[in-house]
Amino acid sequence: MSDELDELYQEVILDHCKKPRNFRLLEGATRLGEGYNPLCGDNYKVYVKMDGEVVADASFQGSGCCISKASASLMTDAVKGRTKTEVKALFALVHDMITTGRVAAQGVGKLAVFAGVHKFPARVKCAILAWHALVAAVDGAETPVSTE
Ligand code: ZN
Repeated sequence: MSDELDELYQEVILDHCKKPRNFRLLEGATRLGEGYNPLCGDNYKVYVKMDGEVVADASFQGSGCCISKASASLMTDAVKGRTKTEVKALFALVHDMITTGRVAAQGVGKLAVFAGVHKFPARVKCAILAWHALVAAVDGAETPVSTE
């Protein structure tokens, strides 16, 4: 990855950290997932409104570091309109990318900005936290989710 690309990715992450999208309570939410990362203090609730098998809407609330917040922001944008199966497939791609730095040829879209996180192992949990909460929510789990 070139330095210029790294810089662009950092700008996107900073933008979503300062102005998180979907950072609100979700009216009519049908599912809730919680994620807590004790290593960093990231603590989020992810709200999902399911319409059958489709994620009709998603939002999040909570607090944490810049990477965790930007990840939740981009994630809630990315999963809207996707089916439960598609969300899980996307999670698998994102998880692989964040832990190895490999960017799938297709499918991750803007989420590619987190590919560089694999160079900072301590931040991997930050980037993946909201995803664990989301998948738990989509699966209908009601217990809090920890990445530990
Ligand atoms: Zn964090």
